[in-house]
Amino acid sequence: MAIIGAGPSGFACAHELERHGVKPDIFEQRPRPGDLFEHVGVILQITNRPVKDQLAEIKKSCYISLKPLNSLKKVTMHSPRVSGSVSGNLGYLFKRGQGEDSVENQLLALIKAPVHYNTRPDYASLALAYDYVVVATGNYETAKILGCLEDIYKTWLVGATVLGEFHPNYMEMWLNTEYAGSAYAYLTPFNHKSASLVLIVPEGDRKAIDCWKKFLRMEKLSYEFSSLWIWEHVAGFVYPHQVGNILFVGNAGGFLRPVLGFALYNAILSGVFAARSMIEGKNYEDYLVNLNKNMMYSLQLRESLNSFTNKHFDHLVAFLTTPGFKQIIYNTNLDMIKYMAILARLIGTKNN
Ligand SMILES: Cc1cc2nc3c(=O)[nH]c(=O)nc-3n(C[C@H](O)[C@H](O)[C@H](O)COP(=O)(O)OP(=O)(O)OC[C@H]3O[C@@H](n4cnc5c(N)ncnc54)[C@H](O)[C@@H]3O)c2cc1C
Repeated sequence: MAIIGAGPSGFACAHELERHGVKPDIFEQRPRPGDLFEHVGVILQITNRPVKDQLAEIKKSCYISLKPLNSLKKVTMHSPRVSGSVSGNLGYLFKRGQGEDSVENQLLALIKAPVHYNTRPDYASLALAYDYVVVATGNYETAKILGCLEDIYKTWLVGATVLGEFHPNYMEMWLNTEYAGSAYAYLTPFNHKSASLVLIVPEGDRKAIDCWKKFLRMEKLSYEFSSLWIWEHVAGFVYPHQVGNILFVGNAGGFLRPVLGFALYNAILSGVFAARSMIEGKNYEDYLVNLNKNMMYSLQLRESLNSFTNKHFDHLVAFLTTPGFKQIIYNTNLDMIKYMAILARLIGTKNN
């Protein structure tokens, strides 16, 4: 079996295949795994309900142990007129990129299969040479060629490693249509002294770098930064997830969640499911039912957020950080993305 892409989804697929005694060939265009820039990713415990502890779930159901950089204990949210915090076991922070302890390198250490670096193979040739080809490229090129790509939602990510004083377990988020449109900005710490600061802006006629400057100015953030990067991020919908002997996993399979642009958990799960479907000879779509359902709620929430004004964001932050509701939102197994999709629709309707 061949896997194109040495990212989380490709590695998770390889790991599951190896657990069943199959050694795939992995092809990666870069000289090593991982994004070209280091950053701190997050898994938020409210995004994959009924699963609350995604790390424990990955260990239990995928047999993959990942070591986070830190656990996430507090999230502070800012909209133009409201700021509020929630505390508790809110998720995990992960190092991403090419560093030794990044998610990608942790996964690489778990597999034995050869990774053929500096290679961009043609999926069609591989499909003739191998029993199966798993497309784990993090992009939609192949799905588009094969006619499986539905809607897409494009964003620009502008980010930097910033220097200052941080609490390693605390994350901050900003919502303001003036610089982020319907998207947002966030800060996730590496440690006490450095953090990733990232602004996400929907694609349009906005110039991402101008939005970044506006964001820093409006939020009065004067960090010293050691690097600045810009990245295009595309969330799309892929169906079917298998064409002949070609399977799509991770972002390439449309598993990037459109609400926050997060995908790590889904990437790992879809990679493992693809491996199981190939080994057991069962329909890949049958394994994806829950992931697809979560994606649908995520899309509904994203559609409501796209029409939000700053007043709506003020209401949302106030709601998410109200003491009584906090307990329900963060301490239960309720599918909060589903309920937030309904709430966002109500907030949008009420304040229009
Ligand atoms: C800046 C940034 C911040 C993010 N933050 C978060 C976060 O906080 N939480 C979260 O859950 N998710 C986050 N994400 C989403 C992220 O996309 C997923 O976490 C995850 O990386 C998706 O895994 P993947 O394996 O599908 O794709 P990728 O991680 O993109 O891996 C794909 C791999 O395939 C390789 N490749 C591509 N094309 C080819 C080709 N033709 N031939 C060979 N190799 C190829 C690429 O070089 C890459 O190594 C973030 C993404 C970015 C860019």
